Amino acid sequence: MSTGDGGTPAAQSRVKIHADFSKPTRTALLSSDEVVIYVSLSQLAGSSSFFRGMVEDATPGTSQSTSPDVIPVSEDSKTLELLLKLALGMAVNKLNERWTCPADIEPVLDAARKYDFPGTAQILLGMIELSALRLKNPLAQYIVACRHNLATLRSEAFERCLGTELDLSALEGPIEGRDIAALVKAHRMRVKILVGILLSQNEGDGPFAAENRTTCARCRTSAEASALGAWSTFQRLAVAVITVRPSLEALWADAKVNEARIKLQQIQCPVQQCKVFMFVDIQRMTEVAWTSRKVKVTGS
Ligand SMILES: [Zn+2]
Repeated sequence: MSTGDGGTPAAQSRVKIHADFSKPTRTALLSSDEVVIYVSLSQLAGSSSFFRGMVEDATPGTSQSTSPDVIPVSEDSKTLELLLKLALGMAVNKLNERWTCPADIEPVLDAARKYDFPGTAQILLGMIELSALRLKNPLAQYIVACRHNLATLRSEAFERCLGTELDLSALEGPIEGRDIAALVKAHRMRVKILVGILLSQNEGDGPFAAENRTTCARCRTSAEASALGAWSTFQRLAVAVITVRPSLEALWADAKVNEARIKLQQIQCPVQQCKVFMFVDIQRMTEVAWTSRKVKVTGS
C-alpha cells in the first residue's frame, strides 16, 4: 500500500521513524502507534511464509513511485521491534529489562504466529515460560501455563496454587473454564483427604486411629485433660489451614500449627514410671498417610 501523496512517510508530521529501522528501503511497516519501520521484505521472507507470499505476489517493475510502500499493521512499535529484531537476528537492547513479564511478550508471540515466523515464535514461547517463573502469584503462573500449553510449568503452578489461598476473584487474563474447574476440584478433594487424615483419630481408619490415641501406648492410661485440649487445639488449627490451603507444605509452614504440634509432642504419659510421649511423629505420620492417599489430580 502506498502513501499515495508522493511524500515519504517521514514527511507526515504525526509519524516517527523507528531509530533502529531507519534506513530507507522499498517497504515500510506503519505500526498502530504510527511509527514507521523500514524493513526489507525479501529479508523477512527468509523466515516467514507470510512475507514470502507478499514478495512472490508483488509484480516487479510496476511501481513508478520513489516513495516506499507503506504497510499499516495492527501491532504497536514495541511489539514489532522485538519481533523483527529476533526474526532478523538483530541484538535486542536491554532484553532482560524491557521484556520481563508474559503479558509484555504475549502480543509479540501472537504477531509471530500471525505473520508465520515459526522459529521466532519458538524463542518467544521460551521467553514467556522463563518470565512466568518470575511471577509471584501462582494463579497468574497457572493461567500463563494453561494458555500456552506449558505442561511442566502447569503442574508446578497447579501445586503452588493449592498451597496458597485460591482467590478466584483475583483472576486476571483469559483462561478456559476447564482449567479453573480442575483446580477447584483438586482443591476440594485435597481438603477432604487432608482433613480426613487429621481427624482420623475420631474416624477409625487413619494414621491417628491406631497410634496417638488419647491413651498411653504402653500403659493405656488416659491422657490428662490438658493433653486432650492440646490435641484438639492442634487439630482445629491444622484443619483451619488445610481448608484454605490444602497442602502439607502450607500446613507445616504455619507458625501456629507448628507451635501446637511441638507442644503436643512434648506431652508425656501422666504415670510417673511410664512417661512415654503420647503424641509422636505427627508430621511423619501425616505425610505417610497423605502420600498413600493422595489422588494425583494434576488437572491435565
Ligand atoms: Zn504410660
